[in-house]
Amino acid sequence: MAHRLTTREIEQFAEALLNARAGADAAVTDDILDALDRISEGTYGRCELCREWLPRERLLAAPWARRCLGCERKAAGAGRTPGAAT
Ligand SMILES: [Zn+2]
Repeated sequence: MAHRLTTREIEQFAEALLNARAGADAAVTDDILDALDRISEGTYGRCELCREWLPRERLLAAPWARRCLGCERKAAGAGRTPGAAT
């Protein structure tokens, strides 16, 4: 289970987001700005669907990630998994 981020870690991710923003394309820039909003709101680092803390490796790979892998898969798989919808 992932655990909550420390203030120091959030500061580091904020820095990573600002650095990434410099070279990011428009689609990613939106995600980065949203992530920075979540930092100021205090909800950064949590899945927007299930509210679980995101694994650190996921944030390191993509500091603007908004969902955990489980929810990401559900979102991606929605509508194309045979028999899943009723
Ligand atoms: Zn989730």
